[in-house]
Amino acid sequence: MAFKIGLLGLGTVGTGTAEILLNPAGRNALLGEVEIHRVGVRSLDKPRAIALPPEIVTTDVEGIIEDPEVDIVVELIGGIEPARSLILKAIASGKHVVTANKAVIARHGDEIYTAANKAGVYILLEAAVGGGIPILQPLKQSLGANRIQRITGIINGTTNYILTQMKEAGRDFADVLAEAQQLGYAEADPTADVDGFDAADKISILASLAFGDRIRYEDIEREGIRQINTTDITYADRLGFAIKLLAIAQKDSHTRNSLQVRVGPTLVPYKHPLASVNGVYNAIFVEGDPLGEVMFYGPGAGKGATASAVVADILNIVALLKSIDTSKGVHPLYGCFHQDYATVTPIEELETKFYARFLCGDRPGVLGHLGTCFGNNGVSLESLVQIGFQGDRAEVVVVTHDVREGNFHRAIDAIHQFESVDDIKVASILRVF
Ligand code: NAP
Repeated sequence: MAFKIGLLGLGTVGTGTAEILLNPAGRNALLGEVEIHRVGVRSLDKPRAIALPPEIVTTDVEGIIEDPEVDIVVELIGGIEPARSLILKAIASGKHVVTANKAVIARHGDEIYTAANKAGVYILLEAAVGGGIPILQPLKQSLGANRIQRITGIINGTTNYILTQMKEAGRDFADVLAEAQQLGYAEADPTADVDGFDAADKISILASLAFGDRIRYEDIEREGIRQINTTDITYADRLGFAIKLLAIAQKDSHTRNSLQVRVGPTLVPYKHPLASVNGVYNAIFVEGDPLGEVMFYGPGAGKGATASAVVADILNIVALLKSIDTSKGVHPLYGCFHQDYATVTPIEELETKFYARFLCGDRPGVLGHLGTCFGNNGVSLESLVQIGFQGDRAEVVVVTHDVREGNFHRAIDAIHQFESVDDIKVASILRVF
């Protein structure tokens, strides 16, 4: 008896998934027991890159979910609605669900998992974070013996491509974004990627798996890359850093009970492996006890890579269904049973290093004022370098030691209060990893 798939969506990932399922030779033998039963799309007239029997393709997605023959619903539509309602209806109909949709899980994971656990069905989403990189099942299973201390990810390929191009070709953000849109690496509306929403969705999923509590999306400190310019990329390079959009979730070293979860452009030292993750590639760097450090690296998006993760989830569910009586509940290594929300440390209590670039007038006392403002607010400096000139203004770059975010911003406020505000302009502020 074959396991029947109801595939919702036949776009990039849906097509890649169908291609694998229709061509199982040389892959895991279990694929021989999987069959595409029906495929739901928005438009029947659209030309398709894959030939499917026309009678199985339909716009009646609800009909697929209610079809008693469908065992596993594979949601590859994306976005919040109708994806959320369709997933909940599939669960209510007793179907197992595979999805690549980070947005719907990050924002509605609580109701989806509560419903799935009650119904005794699986929700697997390996493709939702890191595309083809196996990271969610490894976190749940292979790394399960570890106390995870920190997860740091480059988990948005679009922004990593843009930052890499800006650095390698010395080109402006807007210029590279336009090219990325032409090449299909960036959406027509790039907001989810360049403003960090996509990375925030993904780090909330990673954090909840690694630390065992649900994350409220609004608790994540999020900043995108629109303000990054080639000047800072060049200066960071001279100081030995690459600028990357990092998504970080870690145990708060002071309280241990709360988490720090944030997304933002960050200076990464060249000696760190994340600094050499370039282009559309993704990487997730996990620090745990007793394992130490491990990095997962690979293609974070794309038809084949993402479909590889989707089909792995289908295989896992098929294997579970063949070997375990699901009436006894969901297998603990494949389910998600978190009930509580994590306490997230307020951003002003975060301790991190900062990079700041100032444009300073050529007046006595300006540099002294910078040093005094930092010193008075408990911000100790690792370096303060006059690095060049912009017109008649000296460019000064400061790198701090680990400081409290609140203290750093108090120092910046004090700097702004210099007797002639025009004499010191804060050109940019970035965190340092
Ligand atoms: P896509 O190319 O835009 O495809 C979306 C598919 O969903 C299309 O086939 C579309 O039908 C169908 N669809 C949209 N609204 C529908 C509706 N109301 N009813 C029925 N069908 C509907 O999207 P994608 O890039 O494959 O992404 C799918 C999911 O994978 C998203 O959650 C995305 O975040 C995730 N993901 C994608 C990648 C990637 O590399 N693309 C990587 C990781 C995760 P039509 O074809 O008829 O328009």
